[in-house]
Amino acid sequence: MAEHLPGSLQQKIEERLRYYEDLGIRLFYRDRRTGPIVVGGAAARNSVEPAIAPQGISLTKPKVDAPRGRPAALSPRIAPVNAPSGPSLFEAVDKVVDDTLLKVREDIGDCTRCKLHKGRHKIVFGDGSAKAELVFIGEGPGADEDAQGLPFVGRAGKLLTQMIEAMGLERKDVYISNVVKCRPPENRAPEPDEVETCSPFLLRQIEVIKPRVIVCLGAVAAKTLLQTNRGITQFRGQWLEWRGHKLMATYHPAYLLRNPNAKREVWKDLQKVMAELGLQLPKKKSS
Ligand code: URA
Repeated sequence: MAEHLPGSLQQKIEERLRYYEDLGIRLFYRDRRTGPIVVGGAAARNSVEPAIAPQGISLTKPKVDAPRGRPAALSPRIAPVNAPSGPSLFEAVDKVVDDTLLKVREDIGDCTRCKLHKGRHKIVFGDGSAKAELVFIGEGPGADEDAQGLPFVGRAGKLLTQMIEAMGLERKDVYISNVVKCRPPENRAPEPDEVETCSPFLLRQIEVIKPRVIVCLGAVAAKTLLQTNRGITQFRGQWLEWRGHKLMATYHPAYLLRNPNAKREVWKDLQKVMAELGLQLPKKKSS
Protein backbone atom coordinates (compact mmCIF):
# COMPACT_ATOMS: atom_id res chain seq x y z
CA MET A 1 0.00 0.00 0.00
CA ALA A 2 1.22 3.51 -0.74
CA GLU A 3 1.93 5.70 2.25
CA HIS A 4 -0.41 8.68 2.64
CA LEU A 5 1.13 12.13 2.34
CA PRO A 6 -0.45 15.39 3.48
CA GLY A 7 -2.73 16.69 0.69
CA SER A 8 -0.69 19.80 -0.18
CA LEU A 9 2.58 17.83 -0.36
CA GLN A 10 0.94 15.13 -2.45
CA GLN A 11 -0.38 17.79 -4.83
CA LYS A 12 3.05 19.45 -5.09
CA ILE A 13 4.68 16.13 -5.87
CA GLU A 14 2.08 15.29 -8.47
CA GLU A 15 2.53 18.66 -10.17
CA ARG A 16 6.29 18.26 -10.22
CA LEU A 17 5.96 14.80 -11.68
CA ARG A 18 3.62 15.97 -14.38
CA TYR A 19 6.17 18.65 -15.19
CA TYR A 20 8.88 16.03 -15.66
CA GLU A 21 6.58 13.96 -17.80
CA ASP A 22 6.04 17.05 -19.96
CA LEU A 23 9.77 17.21 -20.42
CA GLY A 24 9.71 13.67 -21.67
CA ILE A 25 11.23 12.22 -18.53
CA ARG A 26 9.04 9.24 -18.04
CA LEU A 27 8.66 7.00 -15.09
CA PHE A 28 9.96 3.56 -14.43
CA TYR A 29 9.48 1.36 -11.43
CA ARG A 30 8.98 2.08 -7.85
CA ASP A 31 10.63 -0.39 -5.53
CA ARG A 32 8.01 -0.55 -2.86
CA ARG A 33 10.35 -2.15 -0.38
CA THR A 34 12.71 0.74 -0.10
CA GLY A 35 10.75 3.83 -1.03
CA PRO A 36 12.31 6.53 -3.10
CA ILE A 37 15.95 6.17 -4.00
CA VAL A 38 17.58 9.52 -4.22
CA VAL A 39 20.83 10.54 -5.79
CA GLY A 40 23.24 12.17 -3.40
CA GLY A 41 23.53 9.77 -0.49
CA ALA A 42 21.84 9.47 2.84
CA ALA A 43 21.15 13.14 3.39
CA ALA A 44 19.01 13.26 0.33
CA ARG A 45 17.38 9.89 0.75
CA ASN A 46 14.05 11.10 2.07
CA SER A 47 13.76 14.05 -0.22
CA VAL A 48 10.89 14.18 -2.66
CA GLU A 49 12.77 16.72 -4.80
CA PRO A 50 14.64 15.50 -7.85
CA ALA A 51 18.32 15.28 -7.15
CA ILE A 52 19.20 17.38 -10.12
CA ALA A 53 17.16 19.28 -12.63
CA PRO A 54 17.63 18.76 -16.33
CA GLN A 55 20.41 20.99 -17.54
CA GLY A 56 19.39 24.43 -18.66
CA ILE A 57 15.76 23.98 -17.71
CA SER A 58 14.22 26.01 -14.97
CA LEU A 59 11.61 24.52 -12.74
CA THR A 60 8.25 25.98 -13.59
CA LYS A 61 4.73 24.72 -13.35
CA PRO A 62 3.55 21.91 -15.60
CA LYS A 63 1.75 22.91 -18.77
CA VAL A 64 -0.73 20.09 -19.05
CA ASP A 65 -2.37 17.58 -16.81
CA ALA A 66 -1.11 14.03 -16.75
CA PRO A 67 -3.42 11.44 -18.25
CA ARG A 68 -6.03 10.27 -15.83
CA GLY A 69 -5.80 6.89 -14.21
CA ARG A 70 -2.04 6.93 -13.95
CA PRO A 71 -0.73 5.99 -10.52
CA ALA A 72 0.91 8.74 -8.50
CA ALA A 73 4.62 8.32 -8.93
CA LEU A 74 7.85 9.26 -7.28
CA SER A 75 10.30 11.80 -8.54
CA PRO A 76 12.41 10.78 -11.50
CA ARG A 77 16.17 11.03 -11.24
CA ILE A 78 18.42 12.40 -13.90
CA ALA A 79 21.87 11.02 -14.43
CA PRO A 80 24.13 13.96 -13.79
CA VAL A 81 27.11 14.32 -16.03
CA ASN A 82 29.78 14.20 -13.41
CA ALA A 83 28.23 12.52 -10.43
CA PRO A 84 26.99 8.95 -10.78
CA SER A 85 23.29 8.77 -10.37
CA GLY A 86 20.95 6.41 -8.64
CA PRO A 87 18.05 5.17 -10.62
CA SER A 88 14.84 6.79 -11.28
CA LEU A 89 12.00 4.49 -10.45
CA PHE A 90 9.51 3.30 -12.98
CA GLU A 91 6.11 3.42 -11.46
CA ALA A 92 4.26 0.49 -12.88
CA VAL A 93 4.68 -2.91 -11.40
CA ASP A 94 4.89 -4.36 -7.95
CA LYS A 95 7.76 -6.65 -7.22
CA VAL A 96 7.06 -10.25 -8.12
CA VAL A 97 7.93 -12.60 -5.30
CA ASP A 98 10.29 -15.45 -6.28
CA ASP A 99 10.42 -14.14 -9.80
CA THR A 100 12.24 -16.09 -12.51
CA LEU A 101 13.03 -15.46 -16.14
CA LEU A 102 10.52 -18.15 -17.00
CA LYS A 103 7.78 -16.31 -15.12
CA VAL A 104 8.68 -13.07 -16.82
CA ARG A 105 8.51 -14.78 -20.21
CA GLU A 106 5.21 -16.40 -19.33
CA ASP A 107 3.80 -13.06 -18.23
CA ILE A 108 4.79 -11.50 -21.53
CA GLY A 109 2.92 -14.33 -23.25
CA ASP A 110 1.86 -13.72 -26.82
CA CYS A 111 1.97 -10.02 -26.08
CA THR A 112 -0.38 -7.52 -27.71
CA ARG A 113 0.09 -4.76 -25.12
CA CYS A 114 1.54 -2.26 -27.59
CA LYS A 115 1.37 -1.65 -31.31
CA LEU A 116 4.71 -3.31 -32.01
CA HIS A 117 3.05 -6.71 -31.83
CA LYS A 118 1.35 -6.05 -35.17
CA GLY A 119 4.53 -6.28 -37.20
CA ARG A 120 6.62 -8.73 -35.24
CA HIS A 121 7.32 -12.33 -36.08
CA LYS A 122 8.97 -13.39 -32.84
CA ILE A 123 9.20 -11.87 -29.41
CA VAL A 124 12.87 -11.39 -28.59
CA PHE A 125 12.99 -11.96 -24.87
CA GLY A 126 16.68 -12.27 -24.07
CA ASP A 127 19.56 -14.68 -24.27
CA GLY A 128 22.36 -15.92 -22.06
CA SER A 129 22.96 -16.87 -18.47
CA ALA A 130 20.34 -16.24 -15.81
CA LYS A 131 23.25 -15.88 -13.39
CA ALA A 132 25.28 -13.50 -15.49
CA GLU A 133 27.34 -10.87 -13.73
CA LEU A 134 27.22 -8.78 -16.86
CA VAL A 135 24.07 -7.77 -18.73
CA PHE A 136 23.96 -5.92 -22.03
CA ILE A 137 20.83 -3.97 -22.89
CA GLY A 138 20.14 -2.89 -26.45
CA GLU A 139 17.33 -0.96 -28.03
CA GLY A 140 15.06 -3.42 -29.77
CA PRO A 141 15.18 -6.31 -32.22
CA GLY A 142 16.02 -5.80 -35.86
CA ALA A 143 15.02 -7.98 -38.79
CA ASP A 144 17.39 -10.87 -38.00
CA GLU A 145 16.44 -10.89 -34.33
CA ASP A 146 12.75 -10.76 -35.23
CA ALA A 147 13.18 -13.75 -37.51
CA GLN A 148 15.21 -15.82 -35.03
CA GLY A 149 13.72 -14.70 -31.73
CA LEU A 150 17.19 -13.97 -30.35
CA PRO A 151 18.81 -10.64 -29.51
CA PHE A 152 21.81 -9.28 -31.36
CA VAL A 153 22.23 -11.93 -34.04
CA GLY A 154 22.46 -9.61 -37.07
CA ARG A 155 25.44 -7.51 -38.15
CA ALA A 156 25.43 -5.40 -35.00
CA GLY A 157 25.03 -8.59 -33.03
CA LYS A 158 28.09 -10.14 -34.60
CA LEU A 159 30.07 -7.09 -33.56
CA LEU A 160 28.66 -7.34 -30.03
CA THR A 161 29.69 -10.99 -29.94
CA GLN A 162 33.22 -9.99 -30.96
CA MET A 163 33.27 -7.37 -28.23
CA ILE A 164 32.17 -9.95 -25.66
CA GLU A 165 34.82 -12.36 -26.87
CA ALA A 166 37.47 -9.63 -26.76
CA MET A 167 36.63 -9.37 -23.08
CA GLY A 168 37.50 -13.04 -22.69
CA LEU A 169 33.87 -14.08 -22.36
CA GLU A 170 31.36 -15.96 -24.43
CA ARG A 171 27.78 -14.98 -25.10
CA LYS A 172 26.59 -17.72 -22.80
CA ASP A 173 28.48 -16.06 -19.91
CA VAL A 174 26.51 -12.83 -20.15
CA TYR A 175 22.86 -11.93 -20.60
CA ILE A 176 21.62 -9.85 -23.52
CA SER A 177 18.26 -8.22 -23.86
CA ASN A 178 16.58 -5.12 -25.22
CA VAL A 179 14.39 -2.29 -24.03
CA VAL A 180 11.56 -3.48 -26.28
CA LYS A 181 10.99 -7.12 -27.13
CA CYS A 182 9.35 -6.67 -30.53
CA ARG A 183 10.88 -5.21 -33.65
CA PRO A 184 9.90 -1.60 -34.34
CA PRO A 185 8.85 -1.15 -37.99
CA GLU A 186 11.72 -0.26 -40.31
CA ASN A 187 14.04 -0.34 -37.32
CA ARG A 188 12.79 3.00 -36.04
CA ALA A 189 13.50 3.86 -32.43
CA PRO A 190 10.90 2.54 -30.02
CA GLU A 191 8.29 5.14 -29.09
CA PRO A 192 7.72 6.26 -25.51
CA ASP A 193 4.50 4.28 -25.06
CA GLU A 194 6.22 1.13 -26.35
CA VAL A 195 9.17 1.65 -24.02
CA GLU A 196 6.86 2.28 -21.12
CA THR A 197 4.83 -0.85 -21.82
CA CYS A 198 7.83 -3.13 -22.19
CA SER A 199 10.17 -1.71 -19.54
CA PRO A 200 8.60 -3.47 -16.56
CA PHE A 201 9.60 -6.80 -18.10
CA LEU A 202 13.15 -5.62 -18.61
CA LEU A 203 13.32 -4.50 -15.03
CA ARG A 204 12.06 -7.88 -13.87
CA GLN A 205 14.68 -9.63 -16.00
CA ILE A 206 17.41 -7.53 -14.44
CA GLU A 207 16.08 -8.04 -10.95
CA VAL A 208 16.03 -11.80 -11.45
CA ILE A 209 19.57 -11.91 -12.82
CA LYS A 210 21.01 -9.39 -10.37
CA PRO A 211 24.08 -8.63 -12.46
CA ARG A 212 26.99 -6.74 -11.00
CA VAL A 213 27.29 -4.65 -14.13
CA ILE A 214 24.82 -3.46 -16.73
CA VAL A 215 26.10 -2.11 -20.02
CA CYS A 216 23.59 0.00 -21.91
CA LEU A 217 24.23 -0.21 -25.62
CA GLY A 218 23.23 3.10 -27.11
CA ALA A 219 21.11 6.03 -26.15
CA VAL A 220 17.74 4.32 -26.03
CA ALA A 221 18.82 1.80 -23.39
CA ALA A 222 20.76 4.39 -21.41
CA LYS A 223 18.01 6.97 -21.47
CA THR A 224 15.39 4.40 -20.57
CA LEU A 225 17.16 3.00 -17.57
CA LEU A 226 18.52 6.30 -16.34
CA GLN A 227 15.34 8.18 -17.21
CA THR A 228 17.24 11.07 -18.64
CA ASN A 229 16.98 13.14 -21.77
CA ARG A 230 20.67 13.91 -21.75
CA GLY A 231 22.72 12.83 -24.70
CA ILE A 232 24.67 9.62 -24.19
CA THR A 233 27.97 11.40 -24.91
CA GLN A 234 27.51 13.31 -21.65
CA PHE A 235 27.80 10.19 -19.52
CA ARG A 236 29.20 7.47 -21.79
CA GLY A 237 32.03 5.57 -20.18
CA GLN A 238 31.23 6.76 -16.68
CA TRP A 239 30.21 4.48 -13.89
CA LEU A 240 26.67 5.16 -12.75
CA GLU A 241 24.67 3.48 -10.04
CA TRP A 242 21.33 1.95 -10.98
CA ARG A 243 19.22 0.09 -8.45
CA GLY A 244 22.28 -1.40 -6.77
CA HIS A 245 23.99 -2.31 -10.02
CA LYS A 246 26.92 -0.58 -11.63
CA LEU A 247 25.82 0.77 -14.96
CA MET A 248 27.86 1.96 -17.89
CA ALA A 249 26.51 3.38 -21.10
CA THR A 250 28.47 2.95 -24.27
CA TYR A 251 27.82 3.27 -27.97
CA HIS A 252 25.54 0.83 -29.74
CA PRO A 253 27.29 -1.71 -32.01
CA ALA A 254 25.18 -0.47 -34.94
CA TYR A 255 26.67 2.98 -34.38
CA LEU A 256 30.12 1.40 -34.43
CA LEU A 257 29.37 -0.18 -37.78
CA ARG A 258 28.76 3.30 -39.13
CA ASN A 259 31.53 4.95 -37.10
CA PRO A 260 34.36 2.45 -36.72
CA ASN A 261 36.58 5.11 -35.10
CA ALA A 262 34.33 5.02 -32.05
CA LYS A 263 35.34 1.40 -31.39
CA ARG A 264 38.36 2.71 -29.54
CA GLU A 265 36.10 4.54 -27.05
CA VAL A 266 33.89 1.51 -26.59
CA TRP A 267 36.87 -0.72 -25.96
CA LYS A 268 38.03 1.69 -23.25
CA ASP A 269 34.58 1.42 -21.68
CA LEU A 270 34.63 -2.35 -21.86
CA GLN A 271 38.05 -2.44 -20.26
CA LYS A 272 36.59 -0.57 -17.30
CA VAL A 273 33.88 -3.22 -17.14
CA MET A 274 36.52 -5.94 -17.26
CA ALA A 275 38.45 -4.30 -14.43
CA GLU A 276 35.29 -4.08 -12.35
CA LEU A 277 34.54 -7.76 -12.94
CA GLY A 278 38.16 -8.83 -12.43
CA LEU A 279 38.47 -10.09 -15.99
CA GLN A 280 41.90 -10.46 -17.58
CA LEU A 281 42.59 -9.82 -21.22
CA PRO A 282 42.56 -13.16 -23.00
CA LYS A 283 46.05 -14.41 -23.91
CA LYS A 284 46.86 -14.19 -27.60
CA LYS A 285 46.93 -17.59 -29.26
CA SER A 286 50.54 -18.46 -30.20
CA SER A 287 50.91 -19.24 -33.89
N1 URA B 1 19.96 -3.86 -32.07
C1 URA B 1 19.46 -3.89 -30.82
O1 URA B 1 19.38 -2.88 -30.14
N2 URA B 1 19.07 -5.06 -30.35
C2 URA B 1 19.15 -6.18 -31.02
O2 URA B 1 18.77 -7.21 -30.50
C3 URA B 1 19.71 -6.11 -32.31
C4 URA B 1 20.09 -4.95 -32.82
